[in-house]
Amino acid sequence: MRHSFRATVSVAALLLISTSASFAASEVNIYSYRQPFLIEPLLDAFTRETGIRTNLIFAKKGLETRIEAEGEFSPADLLLSTDVGRLQAAKQQGIAQPVPSDILKQNIPAHYRDADDQWFGLTTRARVVYASNERVDADSITYEELADPKWKGRICTRSGQHDYTIGLIASMLVHHGEEETRAWLEGLKANLARRPTGDDRAQVKAVYAGECDIALGNTYYMGKMQTNDKEPEQKEWAASVRILFPNSDDRGTHVNISGMLLAKHAPNRENAVKLMEFLSSAEAQQIYAEGNFEYPVKEGVKPSDLVNSWGSFKPDSVALSEIADARKKASELVDIVDFDAGAE
Ligand code: FE
Repeated sequence: MRHSFRATVSVAALLLISTSASFAASEVNIYSYRQPFLIEPLLDAFTRETGIRTNLIFAKKGLETRIEAEGEFSPADLLLSTDVGRLQAAKQQGIAQPVPSDILKQNIPAHYRDADDQWFGLTTRARVVYASNERVDADSITYEELADPKWKGRICTRSGQHDYTIGLIASMLVHHGEEETRAWLEGLKANLARRPTGDDRAQVKAVYAGECDIALGNTYYMGKMQTNDKEPEQKEWAASVRILFPNSDDRGTHVNISGMLLAKHAPNRENAVKLMEFLSSAEAQQIYAEGNFEYPVKEGVKPSDLVNSWGSFKPDSVALSEIADARKKASELVDIVDFDAGAE
């Protein structure tokens, strides 16, 4: 009797194993520029809800080239990226496919997604002014004003050819056209305290050190500095500045996105679309935005308390695809005015 009971148990165990094996066949493959620590909590939640397993490949560059080279045999289902410029470039490269999903359309405002449904924004970050608490009194500012001679020798920024700067200049092109934007860029260059060098955090460090009074940077770096236990000196850099959201009182502050696209030859299309829809849900939006101190794209989902503590703002509502289209011209202008040479 005992023996046959054991046999029954092991048959049941075998059945369980084969059930989970068939779950394992249900999967989705993600190529990501976003760091695993940021993505994994989302993927775990997705697997818990759907039983669909996820495989994550993280790289700092070259994922689009890899998808293109792998061609129709590419295992990639989803690409997670940052910056509308990269998403738009991937679309133009032909490695994406449209996802005509009503859920995505409902959750993601139209100006944060491609009109042909080939890429979708998931979080936003604003390109803001980090103003010295000691040396700047203003409690509001505009991008246009950064070209005013009153800021001469007081502004720090990273390279004009960096994606983030290109995005901002492209947004100026959309609002003001080429002639005005060129004059603005020349004015901004003339106000630089030093040649553009280093990343966004290095500019805030320069404000802390007294080299400049205002710096341009993305919002989430404030959170990264404020919570940096490994390099506590960054907390001091952060404490020396406050964020001003340019143009928040009029046309809105320039924002960019992190986002996603469905790979053209996605082998697990249906699962991938489910994951895309999940990432646009309120639950996922909250986790995703909090993880990197960003803003959720879905209306009604709130940023974290820390992010809220920097103040609220009105984002520019120009379609990001329009800004992406102006990037090439923006990059040309940076060269024409020799922006990275700094002020003469
Ligand atoms: Fe960044």
